[in-house]
Parts: sequence; structure tokens; C-alpha cells
Amino acid sequence: MTAAPAPPTACIFCDACASREVDLVLLRGQHSFVILNLYPYNNGHLMVVPNRHLCALETLTLDEQAELMRFARLSEMALTETYHPQGINVGINLGKAAGAGIENHLHIHLVPRWSGDTNFMTAIGDTRVLPEDLSATAARLRPVFERLAQPGA
Ligand SMILES: [Zn+2]
Repeated sequence: MTAAPAPPTACIFCDACASREVDLVLLRGQHSFVILNLYPYNNGHLMVVPNRHLCALETLTLDEQAELMRFARLSEMALTETYHPQGINVGINLGKAAGAGIENHLHIHLVPRWSGDTNFMTAIGDTRVLPEDLSATAARLRPVFERLAQPGA
């Protein structure tokens, strides 16, 4: 008997975690994964997400905390190598009032920044800055993540 595909949930991150075929996912770990933002504020805008559906830092285990930070570090390295940004915003929005688009599943944004690009608040206000095609972004970043995530790398 073959396993039935997981039924879709109301959460895009849980769906991305359960599906092996989501082409926005750049890296999968034991406790978390890295996925491109579907509506990027800048080229390379990605998110580090715990596999578990939880909404606060409070509920993270130590292993989850360690891997989330490890993946945030790898994301910084991959974005720096690939896009040469002049800065990177790293941020977590907890709750709708804080700007969380998906408020029930914790995620850490990493947004590459260049001086003179749209400022972050304006970007949130819906101004998009020339995002490249997401499949092109994934194709550029995925091999970099695969190399950087090797043990000992
Ligand atoms: Zn979820």
C-alpha cells in the first residue's frame, strides 16, 4: 500500500514542509527548512521556517533553535555569495499587529538590501523592486545551499 499524499492544510508552511515537490524550498533539515518568499521584497528574499506549526519563540526546542540559527547563518552566506547585497534585514514578525502575513507559523525573513533600494517600510506598503523570476532565484540559490550545508563546510 502506498502512502497517500498528506492532505492540504490551512497553512502554506505546513504544506511546503509535507510536500517533497515544492520548488521554492531551498534546503531541508531535521527541524526546519529554507523557502523563498512567494512575494519577495527584493531578489533573494527567503524565510527560515521550523517544521512544526508553532507561533512563538517560546515553544521552540533547543534543537529547533539551533537549526533555525544555523540555517539563518547559511542563508546569510548564500545570499552574500549569490547576490552581493550591501546589507540583509533579518526579522521575525510575531502576530498580525507586528506585520506577520502568516501569523500562526513562525518564520524568519532574510531580505537582501542595497543602498538606494526601496526602504523596508515602503516595500511592505506594496512597492516591489524588480524581483527576478522565483524559479530563477531558486535555481541560483539551491546549489549554493547544498554546498554550504555539507557537514564541515
Ligand atoms: Zn503551519
